[in-house]
Amino acid sequence: MAPLGEFDLIARYFTRPVRRAALGVGDDCALLDLAPGMTLAVSSDMLVEGRHFVSTVAPERLGHKALAVNLSDLAACGARPLAFTLALALPAADEAFLAPFARGLLALAERHDCELVGGDTTRGPLTIAITVFGELAPGTALLRSGARPGDDLYVSGLLGDARLALEVLRGRAAAPGEAFARIRRAMEEPEPRVALGRALVGIASSAIDVSDGLAGDLGHVLRRSGVGAVVEVDALPRSADLAAQAEALQRECLLAGGDDYELVFTAPVGRREAVAGAARAAATPVTRIGRIEPGQELRFVDAAGREVSGPATSFDHFRPDPPASAT
Ligand code: ADP
Ligand code: MG
Repeated sequence: MAPLGEFDLIARYFTRPVRRAALGVGDDCALLDLAPGMTLAVSSDMLVEGRHFVSTVAPERLGHKALAVNLSDLAACGARPLAFTLALALPAADEAFLAPFARGLLALAERHDCELVGGDTTRGPLTIAITVFGELAPGTALLRSGARPGDDLYVSGLLGDARLALEVLRGRAAAPGEAFARIRRAMEEPEPRVALGRALVGIASSAIDVSDGLAGDLGHVLRRSGVGAVVEVDALPRSADLAAQAEALQRECLLAGGDDYELVFTAPVGRREAVAGAARAAATPVTRIGRIEPGQELRFVDAAGREVSGPATSFDHFRPDPPASAT
């Protein structure tokens, strides 16, 4: 088989008929016509081999995850996905990698009606950088800065499985085969909460997606909003696989896990019915896990209301000994 060149590779794997864009892959720029008066939401996330994923991950799942982490940022703002660009560094034009990678990537893109409209391709250590574009009505974006004292605090889905899978891979925890398959999937194939984020527009007072661990990401909301919070650790939603682990490991995974891609959000107490309605409309489970308080402290309590200690730090790429594979 003749080696695949850069432009053959782009044509074969990353060029699809244009749907909504005015112009897609193939020219110097892609062109997107926005609906009149709408605001453009833009976010970028990069995945680097050895940093964000292990070399043994199935390429199809890697394609999925690379877009999922970007769609998760749109979800956290309540934006509707429109399009994305893909900047790719590849060690080689390996079709055994590219075919499943593109399949996983474009399957998720299709489900969210988010078109691949352009990118860049170069040789180099495996790196995947995506920029997503979404739209929302002006002034409606869910921001980190809107939490107010008294607001309820919620999280979608389940927390901690991705971190548990990482701990099993590192040999620090054990999980039976079927359980490992489930938690590994949570780590490698997260589902971005796009429908929930959009349903929460006009209801939630603030939101963020959990990429670096609940405690750290909630901390961003608290700082931007100038408030504190209390989180009830026993109320944090967890899978049966995580619940089977030792208590200390559970808390570590729940609070400092990372790679969850769930939404953490706040809403006034008077909007509980509306939050429940949004969760139903998005077919996404939502759990109330605490409340926003005056001050600037993040406190953790157990079911009996006793204070418990939180995690020491959350994920930071430039601190020594990173604890997780967070984005
Ligand atoms: P330029 O020289 O203008 O940077 P390129 O030769 O890099 O253009 O790319 C040619 C076309 O292919 C452009 O439309 C670009 O957006 C698109 N493209 C390049 N790499 C990718 C990719 N990985 N995925 C999608 N589109 C890509
Ligand atoms: Mg280029």
